[in-house]
Amino acid sequence: MSRPPATRTMPSLSAIVPCYNEESVLNELRNRLITACQEAVGNDYELVLIDDGSSDRTREILRQFQTEDPRITVVLLSRNHGHQLALSAGLSVARGERLFVLDADLQDPPELLTEMMARMDEGYDVVYGTRRSRTGESAFKIRTAHLFYRLLNRMVDIEIPSDTGDFRLMSRRVADVLLAMPERYRFVRGMVSWAGFPQTPFFYDRDARFAGETKYPFRRMVLFAVDAVTSFSILPLRLATALGFFSAAFGFLFSFWVLGAWLLGATIAGWTSIALLMLLLGGTQLIVMGILGEYVGRTYIEAKRRPLFVVEQVLRTETPADD
Ligand code: UDP
Ligand code: MG
Repeated sequence: MSRPPATRTMPSLSAIVPCYNEESVLNELRNRLITACQEAVGNDYELVLIDDGSSDRTREILRQFQTEDPRITVVLLSRNHGHQLALSAGLSVARGERLFVLDADLQDPPELLTEMMARMDEGYDVVYGTRRSRTGESAFKIRTAHLFYRLLNRMVDIEIPSDTGDFRLMSRRVADVLLAMPERYRFVRGMVSWAGFPQTPFFYDRDARFAGETKYPFRRMVLFAVDAVTSFSILPLRLATALGFFSAAFGFLFSFWVLGAWLLGATIAGWTSIALLMLLLGGTQLIVMGILGEYVGRTYIEAKRRPLFVVEQVLRTETPADD
C-alpha cells in the first residue's frame, strides 16, 4: 500500500473514480473527465477507474476503455467491497502528484477541476467540494445528510466539514497519510480531515445523477453513519456510561420508596412498579451492551488485520505516452 517505485513516470494528476454498476454513465464520464483533465494539465494525467465488483457491464466497459487509451488504468476488485474501500484501492494504485476523487455518476462536475487546481496552487493540500445545493436528491436524503454532519461534528474531536462528500483534490502527501492508515472501517473524508495540512472548501452545486440510481439506499446510509461515528468518536461509549449512572441513581432513589412502602406494610400492590423497573433497567442494559458490542466487534475485525480489499487485476499500459 505504498507509493509505486519512482522509476515509472508520475503523472501530475490522477483522477480516481470508484464505479459500482455504473454502465449507463461510463461513456459520458470518460468523455467529460478527459476533457476536464486536458484542460487542467494537458496530457500529464491518468484516470484510475475502479470496478467495485459490479454485476452489470461496468467491468467489460472499463476493460474496453483501458485497451483504447493508455492513460486509463483500471482496477478490478475481486468482489463488491463498498465505496470507501474501492476509493482506497484506487488511491493505492494512483501515481499522480495530485489526486482528484469523484463519483462516477457525474453528480460532481469534472469541469470544476481547473478551478480546484488553481485553489491548490494557492498553497492548499486539500481542496474539498462542499455542496451549496443538491439537485435530483430527495428532500429526505438532503435533510438527513445535513442533520448527520451536524451531529457528527458534535461528537468528534477533529473538524469534519459539513455537506462535503469525497469529491476533492488532494496532494500526494495527504494521500500517503491515508494509505498509511491501516483501518478497515474507512470514512475517507474524515481521515482526510484527520491528516491535517492546509485544507480549504470549494463551494459547488451538486448535479443530479446523470443516469442509473443511487447505490446508497437508506440502510447503507445508516451503516455509513455508524462507521463514521465509531471511526472517530467514543462518545457513544461515554453516553452508555452516563446512561448507566442515570439508571443507577434512579434505582437508588426508588429504593427509598420501596423501603418506605415496606415499612408502612403496603407491599402487596407492587406488580406494576416491578414490571416497569424490569423493563426500564433491562432496556437500558441491552442498549449499553449493544453499544459496547458495536465497538468490541469492530476491535475484533480490525484485530484480524485482513487486507482491506482484494485486487483481482490492475490493467495498465506500462509506459504511458509522454508528450
Ligand atoms: N460505489 C462503489 N461501491 C459501492 C457503492 C457505490 O464504488 O458499493 C460508487 C458509485 O459507483 C459512485 C459512488 O460510489 O461512483 C457514490 O455512489 P452513489 O452515487 O450511488 O451515492 P449517492 O451519490 O447517491 O450518495
Ligand atoms: Mg451519486
